[in-house]
Amino acid sequence: MNKTTEEPSATDDREACVVGLNPGYPPIERGTGTFNPLALQKLLDGDHADIRNLIKQVISQFPYYHGTDVAEYRKLVLQWTRRVADTGMGRIFMSRAVGGEENLPRFMAAFETLAFHDLSLVIKVGVQFGLFAGSIQQLGTSYHHHKYLPDAASARLLGCFAMTEIAHGSNVQRLETTASYDRENDCFVLHTPTFSAGKSYIGSAAQDGKVAVVFAQLNVDGQNHGVHAFVVPIRDAEGRPLPGVTIQDNGLKMGLNGVDNGGIWFEHVRVPRVEMLNRFATVTKDGQYQTEIQSKHARFFAMIGTLLGGRISIATSANCGAKSALTISIRYGARRRQFGPPRSSQETLVLDYPAHQRRLFPLLANVFALDFALKHLVEQTEKIRPEESRPLETLAAGLKALTTWNATQVIQTCRETCGGEGYLAVNRLAALKADTDVYTTFEGDNTVLMQLVAKNLLTEFNEKLKGMRPSQMTAFMVNRALTTVVRRNPTIVLNTFDAHLQDVKFQLGMLRFRESSLLMRGGQRFRYLTLKKNLDPFSAFSRMQRELLDLSRAHIDRVVLQQFAKTVEAVTDQSLRIALKRLCDLFALSQMEINRAWFLENGALRAVTSRAITRMVDELCLQIRQDAVHYVDAFGIPDSCLAAPIAL
Ligand SMILES: Cc1cc2nc3c(=O)[nH]c(=O)nc-3n(C[C@H](O)[C@H](O)[C@H](O)COP(=O)(O)OP(=O)(O)OC[C@H]3O[C@@H](n4cnc5c(N)ncnc54)[C@H](O)[C@@H]3O)c2cc1C
Repeated sequence: MNKTTEEPSATDDREACVVGLNPGYPPIERGTGTFNPLALQKLLDGDHADIRNLIKQVISQFPYYHGTDVAEYRKLVLQWTRRVADTGMGRIFMSRAVGGEENLPRFMAAFETLAFHDLSLVIKVGVQFGLFAGSIQQLGTSYHHHKYLPDAASARLLGCFAMTEIAHGSNVQRLETTASYDRENDCFVLHTPTFSAGKSYIGSAAQDGKVAVVFAQLNVDGQNHGVHAFVVPIRDAEGRPLPGVTIQDNGLKMGLNGVDNGGIWFEHVRVPRVEMLNRFATVTKDGQYQTEIQSKHARFFAMIGTLLGGRISIATSANCGAKSALTISIRYGARRRQFGPPRSSQETLVLDYPAHQRRLFPLLANVFALDFALKHLVEQTEKIRPEESRPLETLAAGLKALTTWNATQVIQTCRETCGGEGYLAVNRLAALKADTDVYTTFEGDNTVLMQLVAKNLLTEFNEKLKGMRPSQMTAFMVNRALTTVVRRNPTIVLNTFDAHLQDVKFQLGMLRFRESSLLMRGGQRFRYLTLKKNLDPFSAFSRMQRELLDLSRAHIDRVVLQQFAKTVEAVTDQSLRIALKRLCDLFALSQMEINRAWFLENGALRAVTSRAITRMVDELCLQIRQDAVHYVDAFGIPDSCLAAPIAL
């Protein structure tokens, strides 16, 4: 910012940036670019540009809150939530019987777009529509849908999703809240047996929620049937906790302070029997427990599996946070000058420094790569039948983890690449950093999710092996052994030609090679630990945690590259295709560069190829520089949402 004696105040700046005026900074040097950003935006918007545009119009009217008064911030976020509800967004995924459109991908597109604005709003809306209404839609039946969904969609009825407890976050199967059937009174009695069995961090619990979908251990006649969900009123019309319900505000958080998170404890609270969400299991009036899914474990996973939409939505909104940060940083880098050649009249743009490019562009490539992979995942939710949902759950868990970790890294890097300006609240990176941080924890802790990915992969692998005779098994293993693959294709480790490094067959081959090697070794080790060492599966998996995390990372990297390459392949606009291919190459080669130690250790790279990959990453960053601002313009973030003076 130009330093003058009479600097405009932050408020002046904000007002100025809303109308697109920011006279304090030199212009952003966009360059001519090699492709049309609008064509790329069309590709990113996909089939749901209309709902994205509608949401952009709505959020463009909300001025950001930069204050520190939590009560005021919460009030504002609630007002915004009601305005979003007025668009009808909350109904989009609901069943037609209650006026919905049964269109989850469209709902997700709307939700993702909200993330170009305040993330407390995103999470408040996510709790109301995605978690509260979504769990009633997915776990309930017609009675619950008609009773709750219309009012939930219009935000007349505000609700919570109360799963996590103080003592149990990741391990949901061990929740301690109980729901015991009282046959005489035809009701369930909800009870919190200990302080640490209290629900915690529950969105909308501290202030606004009137009812909660509560997850509790179902007991009928002293027999436990596992975790089930119940709709439980928690406040009266005046907002006071109902008898038997104790609520505590979680107070100030690292971010997302526009959301009222709180704890809930139940003291023998009665709810009618019909308030159990009974899509997968029910209790009859005379106390019979009925279900079509006999295994407790399978029932639990059927129930949790239906909540997949929330996990995907968190990933897409994290990626949007990363898009905002990159837009701010890359545009700022195209106007900010520091140092320069001795005789030059101008200093150099920071975005022209290779070090700056190296920090930002591989992350830009990641954001595009993850965007296309998430689009593929959303498409799959429409196509896959519930009984085939394991690959979908695996992918959703892995992409949620990778996208939210990536967002954290992107936002930190963008903060640093904007220097001191990046630290000012008015430039939005501070809020993005604080608000997205917890995305790595909620909707499933990332490290726990990555273990789930690997366990699913190993289970499938072992199922494949189980059907084989010992001789087939040996042949199967040998065919996939590293030495065999390298022997069959020796050029893979020595070829340093640009065309080879940019060949998607080579890139995918390398990522597949890492994935299948880790899978095979993981499978062998699991069999060794369980069959030879007699460890139970839990202990064997625990012993293998490092390998599991490597495997899931390798798997998701490969899927992401595959989807990126497919997207590039399908683009018909030649200039756009070249521009996207550059990002795709950067994504693929950066992954190899990051993991080069593994590839070198395993004979899939030689020093000479490894160095060539590093040079190619440098070269791609240089090429991407000319289009950098155009790539981020294509995210289509309205100036009123971006709102960072350094980027307008
Ligand atoms: C702001 C916010 C909002 C939230 N909103 C809601 C909500 O509306 N409703 C709701 O029900 N919940 C909500 N949650 C809870 C959230 O889903 C949990 O925090 C999350 O599931 C993690 O649980 P935990 O905090 O108990 O962490 P833990 O499970 O205790 O994990 C702590 C650490 O241990 C590690 N760890 C755990 N198990 C293993 C293992 N097997 N191997 C290796 N490492 C392991 C984890 O990786 C993590 O680093 C919210 C949380 C926050 C912070």
